[in-house]
Amino acid sequence: MNSLTEENYLKALFSLADDKGEVGVNELSKRLDIKMPTVNSMMKKLAEKKLVFYESYKPLRLTDKGRREAGLIIRKHRLTEMFLVEKMGFGWEEVHEIAEQVEHIQSAAFFDKMDVLLGYPKVDPHGSPIPDKNGKLVWRQYQKLSQSKAGETLVLAAVLDSTTEFLTYLNSRELRLGLKIKIKAVEPFDGSMTVSYGKHTALVLSSTVTERLLVEPAGT
Ligand SMILES: [Zn+2]
Repeated sequence: MNSLTEENYLKALFSLADDKGEVGVNELSKRLDIKMPTVNSMMKKLAEKKLVFYESYKPLRLTDKGRREAGLIIRKHRLTEMFLVEKMGFGWEEVHEIAEQVEHIQSAAFFDKMDVLLGYPKVDPHGSPIPDKNGKLVWRQYQKLSQSKAGETLVLAAVLDSTTEFLTYLNSRELRLGLKIKIKAVEPFDGSMTVSYGKHTALVLSSTVTERLLVEPAGT
């Protein structure tokens, strides 16, 4: 069994991994806001548990076991978020911090029951995939709204930022998953977009916003 702190390291390693699965110690230290020596000693500990490959001056990499365990924590987190929205009536902007706490409950039966009650959902309320029971996570091919062009019509599929601040902003603009968005114009100077959707005929979204929205072509 891993401690809450160890679980948070595993999750950070999982989410920071590049295409080769590697993470710099520096990067990990920044993400967790923990000093390098502390991070290094935790990595030694996780290496002893066979959860991470750790050598001085080399990037970190999760072992298969480490990746599986990280995936299972993310599974608990995302199932919880779905449960809070679907069964308890929370808004999607309210659930992340609660799930950060609930994800550390050890009982697998607790989360299996949640999964059943929810009807085995594949994504969480923010559109992120829920890893399977083996901790395996597969993203669908989405693009960022910021990479789309004027004239395209897209469906909002997921958000890359699930902080209360960002989701409250989306709520205030009535932007939610499944919405069809048409790009009317893109400002070359700063990438801001004029879009239309629902009853909004011309709303401007900054690139700070469009970089955090994942979309897929309408009609797929
Ligand atoms: Zn979350």
